[in-house]
Amino acid sequence: MSDGAIAAERVLWRAQAPVSAPAPPLRGDADADVAIVGGGYVGLWTAIRIKQRDPAADVVVIEREQCGAGASGRNGGQAHGWWRQLSILTELCGAEEALRLVRAADAALEEIGALDASGELSCDFARSGLHWTATTPAQVGAWEETVAHVERNGGEQVFQRLTQEELWARTGSRAHLAGVLERPAAAVHPGKLARGLRERALALGVRLHEGTAMVALERGGSGTSAADAPAGAGAIVVTPHGRLRARRVVLATNAWAIADARLRQRLYVVSSQVVATAPVPERLAALGLGPDLRIHDSQDRVLYYGTTRDLRFVLGRGGGSVALGSRLGAGFADSERWAADAASELRRLYPTLADVPLERHWAGPVDRTTSGLPLLGRLDARGDVLVGLGWSGTGIVQAAVGGDVLASLALGLDDEWSRSALVDAPVARRLPPEPLRWLGAQLVRGAVVRVGRAQLAAREPHRVVRALAGLVPRGPDRRR
Ligand SMILES: Cc1cc2nc3c(=O)[nH]c(=O)nc-3n(C[C@H](O)[C@H](O)[C@H](O)COP(=O)(O)OP(=O)(O)OC[C@H]3O[C@@H](n4cnc5c(N)ncnc54)[C@H](O)[C@@H]3O)c2cc1C
Repeated sequence: MSDGAIAAERVLWRAQAPVSAPAPPLRGDADADVAIVGGGYVGLWTAIRIKQRDPAADVVVIEREQCGAGASGRNGGQAHGWWRQLSILTELCGAEEALRLVRAADAALEEIGALDASGELSCDFARSGLHWTATTPAQVGAWEETVAHVERNGGEQVFQRLTQEELWARTGSRAHLAGVLERPAAAVHPGKLARGLRERALALGVRLHEGTAMVALERGGSGTSAADAPAGAGAIVVTPHGRLRARRVVLATNAWAIADARLRQRLYVVSSQVVATAPVPERLAALGLGPDLRIHDSQDRVLYYGTTRDLRFVLGRGGGSVALGSRLGAGFADSERWAADAASELRRLYPTLADVPLERHWAGPVDRTTSGLPLLGRLDARGDVLVGLGWSGTGIVQAAVGGDVLASLALGLDDEWSRSALVDAPVARRLPPEPLRWLGAQLVRGAVVRVGRAQLAAREPHRVVRALAGLVPRGPDRRR
């Protein structure tokens, strides 16, 4: 397999949440009101939200593999809202709309929890909170600015400061020097969530074609490729065995969107590598740990970890491979090198688990923007192709809010979603062309790794290395 694809059984979440019968590929020509490309959380939520607003709308989702094959079936299962992004959201959308979006993400988190509780969408939801910690002295206090901003602006109850004893007891590791708990956050099973959204979309009457890749997008609806065709004429999604004509097309293809040169200027893609142990209930119990623990520390190369419902330990690390041009190489599916790197972090944080065998490892692509906020809106002035991309490693809950925005735009509604200041917002700086961009990214990534190592060894990194590492586009809470 290539292009960032990985066999379902190699990814723990997908192996644990298999889909019983794949949907048939598209064969022949078809029409729809809305065609959605990509069957991850974003594409599926968009389809669901459209059906919730207009049950008569004819919605077709096409997915090149199977729903959940991308980031949605491979992620860290840390479901949190948009509070950390409040500051950048305020900058872009104004205080009122920023708070409305943050509260919408909180409501989406509630909605997922309620669906799980009612059995309508079982995804092992647990309101576990998310621990934001420091595992080196240099990281201590990384959260202070964000926490202070959130507390001053309506989120007094969001973060809970933890004493060192509380932190050690909750995380089972004295490697955590300090930290806060993001209280509204939750643990989910990524594969079960993807499967549940797929089932929900199907139950609402969404038509789904899996094993169906978009190979070209034609504009104008006339069947001829016409980039300058009149607005409102719709678009045609071209697939290997059929053409899907729709009034509106939504691109929800995550990192794979960099195949389009226009989107490549606004997105950059890095891999995130995950390792998972076998179930080790006794070993976790010895650390005082149960299921559904969620933690990340404050390194520039994001490190996220915790326990599963079946009592494994799972750890992921961002910033591995960097995409070159439009290509997602093998490192976006899995990498021995980055798996060993992640395993060494697991040993550092939990030395008593050092001998526990790793059962699986896999990687996934993360579609980043320079601001850490998604590109939501129209691909260009014509308005018949919409994009929901650039989730920047924070998409489990935000995909539902993105679905609200994209659904209203796709249906041509005039409401708080279509009017949101996040629609068509300038969330991303243009990135330099290749090969400059890849070379620059390698240099900066190398510097970030060296700064991380220096901090671990309690050394001051060289000032040139520090300056280079400082060039990495920074999300509002330093995560990447
Ligand atoms: C390893 C990892 C860990 C993460 N951890 C977290 C976390 O803990 N918390 C959090 O909030 N977020 C996390 N994220 C991010 C989160 O998973 C994503 O933001 C979210 O899943 C985005 O969903 P999506 O629908 O945009 O993308 P995807 O799930 O990638 O869906 C895109 C789909 O499009 C399909 N596709 C691509 N090209 C085509 C084409 N040409 N034709 C048809 N189909 C196509 C792909 O096969 C894929 O299924 C993580 C991501 C990764 C990779």
